[in-house]
Amino acid sequence: MSENCNHNCSECSSNCGERTEPQSMIEKMNEMSNIKKVIGVVSGKGGVGKSLVTSMLAVKMRQKGYNTAILDADITGPSIPKAFGLCEKALSTEMGLFPMDTKTGIKTMSINLLLDDETSPVIWRGPVIAGAVKQFWSDVIWGDVDYMFVDMPPGTGDVPLTVFQSLPVDGIVVVTSPQELVSMIVGKAVNMAEMMNIPVLGIVENMSYFECPDCGKKHSIFGESHVDELAKQYNINTVSKIPIDKTIAQKCDSGKAEEINCSCIEDIVNAIESK
Ligand code: ADP
Repeated sequence: MSENCNHNCSECSSNCGERTEPQSMIEKMNEMSNIKKVIGVVSGKGGVGKSLVTSMLAVKMRQKGYNTAILDADITGPSIPKAFGLCEKALSTEMGLFPMDTKTGIKTMSINLLLDDETSPVIWRGPVIAGAVKQFWSDVIWGDVDYMFVDMPPGTGDVPLTVFQSLPVDGIVVVTSPQELVSMIVGKAVNMAEMMNIPVLGIVENMSYFECPDCGKKHSIFGESHVDELAKQYNINTVSKIPIDKTIAQKCDSGKAEEINCSCIEDIVNAIESK
């Protein structure tokens, strides 16, 4: 027990034998950061458009005038720097790491902004990956941020769970695509969120349909969507659908995510803003 013990364990991180409350697993924010809201973006597997949705949400919030940041926690598949055309290295000083600004001023940190060769694969085990994400929270000097979007590691396994437990997430957005076993993924994400008392703010169905550029007819390329019924089943009020769109892919893959102009995620943006 510390000499100055006031018997209020919630104010103390000492792991002494007298402890009466479990120690929070939330990492300490950097002293030079002031982050107001943290939104986690999750998916059941890689390649469904989680990074695209993270980027689109951050871009919209920035357009609304908020100080916005992206923490790329997808350590083994980091796509955020590429989506924003960031190829320089982040500045590291004795005080900590500085995030890189995108063209419109979204503060960004990703493993690819630290590696000498961004093509070298990260083959770390789960605890090391989670450790890197924790450092992105505690060692990065984020400054003032109204909304931070966290591009979570894909899946609902150990790594995303540890990341969730380490960051003070205020809400999550689930990204799915019609090819997946959507009900299972949404169910798992909802369970994970419930376990940690975090609300699911909405579901984004990416690659939902294709709109014919000639006649305007919408085609459900991957079959009919069931995401609305699912959202109802889990009491999730907001569903947004993003079409398969060549322009979206081109912008996202050529560092021009800030030029994507799609009103399709407006409802989710409103849900986040009113949280
Ligand atoms: P994840 O983060 O889930 O691994 P990404 O966001 O990196 O997935 O997207 C994977 C690839 O699919 C990218 O090349 C992206 O441009 C493309 N893509 C994602 N969503 C769409 C879409 N709605 N229309 C066209 N291409 C898309």
